[in-house]
Amino acid sequence: MDNRASGAVLPLHKGEVPLYMETGKAYPRSVHGRFRSLKWWAMVATLGWWHLAPFLRWDRGPGAPDQAILIDMPGRRAYFLFIEIWPQEVYYLTGILLMAAIFLFLMSAVAGRVWCGFLCWQTVYTDLFVQVERLVIGGRTKRLAFARAPLSAGKVARLALVNLLWLVISAACGICFTLWFGDAFEGLRDIFAGNAPLATYVFIFVIGGFCFLLAGYARERVCVYLCPYSRFQSAMFDEHSLIVTYESWRGEPRGTARKDQSFEGRGHCVDCRACVQACPTGIDIRGGNQLACIGCALCIDACAAVMDRFGLPRGLISYDSSANIEARGQGKPTGFHVIRPRTLFYAGIIAVVGTVMLVRLVSRPDIDLNVLHERAPLFVQMSDGGIRNGYEVRVLNMKAEDRAFTLRLEGLDGATLDVVGGEARVASADLAVPRDSVGEFRLYVTAPAAILSGKTLPISFVLEGNGRTVRTATLFAGPDK
Ligand code: SF4
Ligand code: SF4
Repeated sequence: MDNRASGAVLPLHKGEVPLYMETGKAYPRSVHGRFRSLKWWAMVATLGWWHLAPFLRWDRGPGAPDQAILIDMPGRRAYFLFIEIWPQEVYYLTGILLMAAIFLFLMSAVAGRVWCGFLCWQTVYTDLFVQVERLVIGGRTKRLAFARAPLSAGKVARLALVNLLWLVISAACGICFTLWFGDAFEGLRDIFAGNAPLATYVFIFVIGGFCFLLAGYARERVCVYLCPYSRFQSAMFDEHSLIVTYESWRGEPRGTARKDQSFEGRGHCVDCRACVQACPTGIDIRGGNQLACIGCALCIDACAAVMDRFGLPRGLISYDSSANIEARGQGKPTGFHVIRPRTLFYAGIIAVVGTVMLVRLVSRPDIDLNVLHERAPLFVQMSDGGIRNGYEVRVLNMKAEDRAFTLRLEGLDGATLDVVGGEARVASADLAVPRDSVGEFRLYVTAPAAILSGKTLPISFVLEGNGRTVRTATLFAGPDK
């Protein structure tokens, strides 16, 4: 019996995977080794980051939020350490997402499904949920016996405890999600005091609910049937990408063995199925590379322990490139080739996007000007013959200090500005904008009709302040001539 109560295994090869196949729940056996330790560290790092990062502080001066990483939806701002992203700079987010995607491709080209096996949210939480089952019910054999045992009060109590602990972990996951969108300390207080907005509780319910269902019940089905990344990931592999592989040239013909027997004339695989029992997706890697293999490398640790017991060299299942495995089988030299056209291409894209973003970030102005020409009416003919156009003007003061700016026009000689609620008929208007905010002004531009040679005239608004100048082009409209 492998690691499922049903005894079913997932089909071996990509072409054999049906749209859906119910195999029952997997009960992976616990293993020890290099990759298991790496998975523990990856779990600590990823969960630590998710749960603790919102509590990191970063001093941005008085009046500014001191949360190091914050997505402030009401304030329409995102903060990442010293970087502050305004809504009109959403292209930074696009750049970050693009770099993250390409980095994932690079990671896959170099180290195969290392993301899936060690860092993905689904893998990490599933691993944690399995540990909860181990803690409450026991190791693989006990869990299999528990699954087959008839319903009893004891069984119900233990199942309830497992689900309760899963719910606590899921709730923590949902709560932490909301803490990235507001002050984490205040948010946490409000959530437990029942003072948080309804939307916060809805998000906790939805995110926590997905965590509970996907990590507790759906498990490897997410990787096999739901995740699109697993479907196209192999397109990023080549013969030098690291994958988890069984060295069939060395393992076959397989067969059971005694500890003191000779392995002359037979393969090193003792058919103990420890690799299958350790697999969280319940597959047999000896059948070849499979879509359901998430590259967690736990079968490597399981097999290494078996090889040690029989005094055989480790590496019957290894994390290696297919080129190396083939070369080793033929007694040829092996090597790890990271620098290849594919990896250079991915690294090049990351470098270009990163450089463009960095240059843009260090050279970006701390003021900006947006002008919207009013459409209704497009223009008004005044009683003195002048033409008046209305504009909505937004001045962005991206500095942590109150500032005064001067707004003037270019390309419209003799025109005057009337700021609604402010200065009237001036050649240039003074606009005050508080620190770290957007000043919104409505104003009229009036010009003599004679200046218009056609239906519209291209003009520019010029904003000056603190040695900075910003220009925004727009139109001045009048009657047909
Ligand atoms: S076959 Fe090995 S590497 Fe692949 S999912 Fe199973 S245990 Fe992990
Ligand atoms: S753990 Fe190693 S020896 Fe045992 S069945 Fe798997 S490949 Fe063969």
